[in-house]
Amino acid sequence: MQYNLNIQRIAESNRMNIDFSNLPFGKVFSDHMFVADYDGTEWTNLEIKPLENLSVHPGNLAWHYGQSIFEGMKATKGADGTPLLFRPEMHIERLNASARRMCMPEFPADLFDQVIRTLVHMEKDWIPSEDGSALYIRPLMIAMDEALGVRASLKYKFIVMCLPVGPYYAKPVSLLAETKFVRAVDGGVGEAKTAGNYAASLYPAMLAKQAGFDQIMWLDAKEYKYIQEVGTMNIFFVFKDKIVTPATTGTILKGITRNTFIKLLNAKGYEVEERLISIDEIYEAEKSGELLEVFGSGTAAVVAVVNKISHNGRSIELNQEDYKVAPMLKAHIEGLRNRTIADENGWIVPVNMLESVS
Ligand SMILES: *Cc1c(COP(=O)(O)O)cnc(C)c1O
Repeated sequence: MQYNLNIQRIAESNRMNIDFSNLPFGKVFSDHMFVADYDGTEWTNLEIKPLENLSVHPGNLAWHYGQSIFEGMKATKGADGTPLLFRPEMHIERLNASARRMCMPEFPADLFDQVIRTLVHMEKDWIPSEDGSALYIRPLMIAMDEALGVRASLKYKFIVMCLPVGPYYAKPVSLLAETKFVRAVDGGVGEAKTAGNYAASLYPAMLAKQAGFDQIMWLDAKEYKYIQEVGTMNIFFVFKDKIVTPATTGTILKGITRNTFIKLLNAKGYEVEERLISIDEIYEAEKSGELLEVFGSGTAAVVAVVNKISHNGRSIELNQEDYKVAPMLKAHIEGLRNRTIADENGWIVPVNMLESVS
């Protein structure tokens, strides 16, 4: 179905005022945003317009009780300048899974497709061309009812904003396996990309920073034994004879980069196990020389190599200079994104628009 988007263009683009050789992550926004309202029954007021502030009632339910979900995806450019999306259908599927868990309305997948294509096409001059840089796309859904009381909102807003981001110079990260605080519990909301998960992680993350670590490696909430994930990344362990990543049993975010890596690794002949993996197994594998690499996966960094893990006062140091799998995966994703590597899986979605839309 083709939807009617009301498009209002900015009088003068801000693009020329932005230094693309120095893009701090998350601070620079493109000219336009998409906004839609859920009126209790359907999505209405479909609009692309210049980025502007929202006027929100102080009783807004999202602020008080946290109905807020989001996504994070990237658009890049092919050599001919065509904007390229990466597995966008996975992002709307996950957004709608988050919506169901948080008692929020789903957003139609075909409308999402039209919105992202139209917006990215309008913002194509905002897509940086340097390798590793991208236009980061942030869809957000929030409750909009103006009334206190714990219940699901009837009204919602869906917004999509775009931010050009430079290459992520992923320096190696040190991880603290957390033995007091937890990120997610069985039956909780760990699998939803919802605001509260991040709010709850801030205090333990601050303590970890003060103790000299970059990020927390979360363990399960029952036994503090099984590894879940890291900050905003899923985690992979490369052993001599196999690669292991925690299974998505409800307490970890189903990363699209994670899913992509598993498929790429399988295609390259690696055996990948998705299962419970304990912190003790990691220490034993390190001792026996079986553990070769540890790295995180996520849309923002693609790959973040881990050079240290600490748990209850014992530490493992890893030498990222010896890593082979992590850099191979990163190069493969970048190659797909700039079309120097053939896309055998149909993951890359070019944004070609009729002239009438531009
Ligand atoms: C977004 C996110 C990830 C990574 O997901 P991608 O789809 O690969 O970007 C992993 N963990 C958490 C907690 C996240 O929010």
